[in-house]
Amino acid sequence: MGGSAVVVGAGIGGLAAAIGLRLVGWEVTVVERAPVLADVGAGISLHANGVRALDALGVGLGAAARPQYEGGTRSPDGGWLARMDGGVLERELGTPIVGLPRAELHRLLRAALPAECVVVGAEVTSVARTGSGRMRVPVGDGVREVDLVVGADGVNSRLRAQVFPDHPGPAYSGSTVVRAITERPVEVDTDFELTWGGGAEFGHIVFADGRAEWHAVYNAPAGVRHPDTLTEMRRRFGAWHDPIPALLDGTRPDAVLHHDIHELVTPLPAFAAGRIALLGDAAHAMTPHLGQGACQALEDAVTLAAALAAGPTVEAALSRYDAERRPRSQSVARAARRAGRMGQRLAHPLAVAVRDTALRLAPSRATVRAVLRHADWRPPGLG
Ligand SMILES: Cc1cc2nc3c(=O)[nH]c(=O)nc-3n(C[C@H](O)[C@H](O)[C@H](O)COP(=O)(O)OP(=O)(O)OC[C@H]3O[C@@H](n4cnc5c(N)ncnc54)[C@H](O)[C@@H]3O)c2cc1C
Repeated sequence: MGGSAVVVGAGIGGLAAAIGLRLVGWEVTVVERAPVLADVGAGISLHANGVRALDALGVGLGAAARPQYEGGTRSPDGGWLARMDGGVLERELGTPIVGLPRAELHRLLRAALPAECVVVGAEVTSVARTGSGRMRVPVGDGVREVDLVVGADGVNSRLRAQVFPDHPGPAYSGSTVVRAITERPVEVDTDFELTWGGGAEFGHIVFADGRAEWHAVYNAPAGVRHPDTLTEMRRRFGAWHDPIPALLDGTRPDAVLHHDIHELVTPLPAFAAGRIALLGDAAHAMTPHLGQGACQALEDAVTLAAALAAGPTVEAALSRYDAERRPRSQSVARAARRAGRMGQRLAHPLAVAVRDTALRLAPSRATVRAVLRHADWRPPGLG
């Protein structure tokens, strides 16, 4: 079944959806409100499910991605709580977790689409159904009439609010995140680390070019900002183990990003209504504690394309898309929230001590099992 679609939002989810739809013979226009096509962010880790979804879309990461073989979880004094051997994941899943700059992933996705497919500087705030059952979408100064609208407009999705006006929308998770990419390559012994203190974590991943992205996530009231964020990070994390001080020292102040983390605590009752499908953070914004948000958006994209290829109608395809994606992505979102509660968000010193002891005593296989639980997903064929 072919057709025409407008995808609202040119983030990772929207671009991936457009690539998938084109692969199964649909005509697609991606509409992005930002005037320039880019991804604001630092680095991203992709688990096997995300890498497999990209493979299904014909997007190879190649040398852009660095496999994360060596690393694990530490306490602020540097002691290891759990080691993770990426080689075991590679043997089990065909790939370890990989890390790359978000801008690079976004560039690879853009390169898989003809430039004329994407309209920038155009905000879509609502869509309408025509008398014949098709969808009318305002695009810049004009209007498109299409068979399908894909809402990939992120955590504050306008399309989600239109489809589910009674849904409460995203909620503040209680955690804020500061992140950056170092200016130059750094000397570190590991590919990735996560360090848990009380109500705070500091993590890094190293890129293929030797630079690293670091992120600090900590409990804070919504909206708190610092006059000098890098200085505040040194105050909070400067006494933590190496290489944390070196990562902060290797960062330019103007490279530092600070965002509050919002999530959809109330799950959506459906990912589709009529001829509108919701996808990525618009459908299931989750906390980043499992590094699965974008991976789930990539799964959505492949599953949506496969469902539309199978037809026989848009409505039937969207109903299958909803049935296949909603239970899984909402369960990953719940698991991410739980992981945050047991990890970064845990603040009471006694609870932190109990958690750390349990982690030190856990068999190394337990860490691998925790990753496998969500990463071992296989894409449907796209024909
Ligand atoms: C700190 C942090 C770390 C993370 N780390 C990871 C990780 O390591 N691995 C992982 O898999 N996931 C990670 N995630 C999650 C991941 O970033 C998101 O799940 C993913 O980027 C969502 O992509 P999206 O395309 O659905 O939404 P977005 O990236 O938000 O894209 C939405 C797009 O829609 C556009 N838009 C919005 N409204 C409109 C409108 N009305 N009209 C037109 N355009 C519009 C926006 O400008 C934007 O370009 C992390 C998230 C955070 C916050």
